Amino acid sequence: RQMSARRLMVGGNWKCNGTMGFAKSFPADVLNKLKFDPKKVEVVVAPAALHISTVQSVLKNNVHVATQNLSLTGDGAYTGEFSIAMVKDMNISYTLTGHSERRTLYHETDKDVAKKTKLAVDQGFTVLACIGELLGERESGKTKDVNNRQLNAIREECEDWSKIVIAYEPVWAIGTGKTATPQIAQDTHAEIREWLAANVSKEAAASVRILYGGSVTDANAAELIAMEDIDGFLVGGASLKPAFHQIVEACQNAK
Ligand code: PEP
Repeated sequence: RQMSARRLMVGGNWKCNGTMGFAKSFPADVLNKLKFDPKKVEVVVAPAALHISTVQSVLKNNVHVATQNLSLTGDGAYTGEFSIAMVKDMNISYTLTGHSERRTLYHETDKDVAKKTKLAVDQGFTVLACIGELLGERESGKTKDVNNRQLNAIREECEDWSKIVIAYEPVWAIGTGKTATPQIAQDTHAEIREWLAANVSKEAAASVRILYGGSVTDANAAELIAMEDIDGFLVGGASLKPAFHQIVEACQNAK
């Protein structure tokens, strides 16, 4: 990878995992001991919402905290939701949107994801907007169409891409142990960058970070981050393990 102006990013998505004990011990034992230069690598973790304040109270490092999702509704009669105002009030300024589990299990549409992305960007958040194709879509050659459709929905809502980070996560690689090869990931990231150049701006194509997600571990992070258009990772399973340290280290050591 040539030195680019893009700061790398590693996100840890804890999904619906952890206990109060873990929310104290993992930041103390792993996150507070990460060695990285925040000018080179931005590190963000997304615990379950119930555990966020505990994680925040233990974190000392330059590690940021994100929500995994957010509500389109504001404060009010919306049982079971939490508003973006509440998230801001907790000094959180990062969120994921459009994770494949939100899309598949909770039926979020491209439009929902785009609106959530816009809401968060407007509130000054850095948004890790997740996109990616299903196995059948890759096998039938539809990867580019699916990614472009998901990206177009975001573009219809968002003009300003300076706070958007794209997390390309092929759904067949999430939690399956099947990582995209570095070349497959690179080729798709390059297509996404072409889409940015053609549909947002040349500047966005040069500056928007594109993370890879899908079974990233300490064993494959270094070869993936060596690729030109891979600007970091969104990590699920391995973000709950000490291996997260080596993934951040691989980014810190990337040329
Ligand atoms: C994810 O859910 O964002 C993810 C990439 O999961 P995993 O690393 O476990 O495949």
